[in-house]
Amino acid sequence: MLAKGVVCACLAGAALAPARTPSDLSAYREPLERILREGLRTCTAHELLLDLCRTAPHRLSGSSGAADAVKWAKQALERAGLENVRLEPCSVPFWERGSTAELALAGADGSVSAASERLAIAALGPSVPTPVEGLTAEVVEVHDFEELRALGDSARGKIVFFNRSMDASLADTFEAYGKAVDQRWGGAREAAKAGGIAAIVRSMTTRLDDLPHTGSMGYEEGVPKVPAVAISTHGAERLAARLKKAPVRARLRLDCRQHEDQPSFNVVGELPGSELASEVLVVGGHLDAWDLAEGATDDGAGCAQSIEAVRLIKALGLKPKRTLRVVLFMNEENGLRGAKAYAESHKDELEQHVLAMESDRGGFTPRGFESDASPEGLELLRAAAELLSPIGIGFVRPGSGGADVGPLGRAGVPTIGYVPDCQRYFDIHHCERDTVAQVSPRELELGAISMAGMLYVVADVPERLPRAAASK
Ligand SMILES: [Zn+2]
Repeated sequence: MLAKGVVCACLAGAALAPARTPSDLSAYREPLERILREGLRTCTAHELLLDLCRTAPHRLSGSSGAADAVKWAKQALERAGLENVRLEPCSVPFWERGSTAELALAGADGSVSAASERLAIAALGPSVPTPVEGLTAEVVEVHDFEELRALGDSARGKIVFFNRSMDASLADTFEAYGKAVDQRWGGAREAAKAGGIAAIVRSMTTRLDDLPHTGSMGYEEGVPKVPAVAISTHGAERLAARLKKAPVRARLRLDCRQHEDQPSFNVVGELPGSELASEVLVVGGHLDAWDLAEGATDDGAGCAQSIEAVRLIKALGLKPKRTLRVVLFMNEENGLRGAKAYAESHKDELEQHVLAMESDRGGFTPRGFESDASPEGLELLRAAAELLSPIGIGFVRPGSGGADVGPLGRAGVPTIGYVPDCQRYFDIHHCERDTVAQVSPRELELGAISMAGMLYVVADVPERLPRAAASK
């Protein structure tokens, strides 16, 4: 939905804002230098992350862990000295993976026994379960939906195995992910359309190892719901090798469950602006996380950085003109209900939203930002980024701010995403490896500092950042 009056605001904003050069922002060099030095000296981002992962290590939406994370977030925002700390309601899906996820390869006689080879899998959410005794069928391997459709009737009654790797030749791992993830999201749906009885999807990582990487998938109305799992990359290679030699029968067992929607919350706190308090800059990450580990990288890091960025600005006595609002979103992973609820409940205020920043690419060394701001807006953001070059910020490139700020972007609020180094993100993403041990305190804090610097400049410059074009 388009917020009232948004259509022309982008044009008006663009006309009012003169092009800026880095030298226009020279007055911000000194405060940004302080943010950098004090941030590295006093950094609290890693302590926040440790505390979140200890308090609520498993916090998939709707779970008791997610409720613990909400309580933690409220206290963390209060401890950071923010004002107007509050819970904003949203209703979320509640899916549990259960305790059984087994893929057993049948022996030469077609049966499964205790001695049968088992490959590491994890249910995708919100997969339906299998019958208690499991589903046993021949496995058919494909690499994309076109190949599956070309099989015609020969996939009927089979378990469909999607085995297209993330393209390791791409330096941008998010680009590689984007080109492979359709199998995870749509694999069960396409398998069912072809008459298949289940979907196995190669884990979304370039790394070869034994860890299955879970994630979200979707069903389509009118299409049978069949179980869907991720298989580790080693498991995928092993299964493909077996299929090259001879047909493979396998038994799949899952006991996951979908419950009723649950009440939950986004958690919000503010540093009110000193002159233009009604103009708001949002900064956030998502509180929920997949349940296989601690969700430290995805996205405890973004939550900790968002809190730390605003805490640091306040602790230094900096008083930006506009309001900084931390929003810790619920349910990014399997529904985006928090993001949608925020945009809906603040729709009358969105014209006063100057920028929405998200950190959801991990707590790694800073590289830059990605933004859907107008060309004039990008000029200002790039001038601010230039001041952050000493800590490794090298670009503000056109792109998306992120999933949680997406609804705000579609309503015309410029969005910006923090972009750290991306090489290790998908080694960790949605698997058992996503623990605090994988996060460097220094790298995490440098991200918080980058975000603080960018937020401070945009919140304080005399001219408001021009609005983006509303798309929906
Ligand atoms: Zn995430």
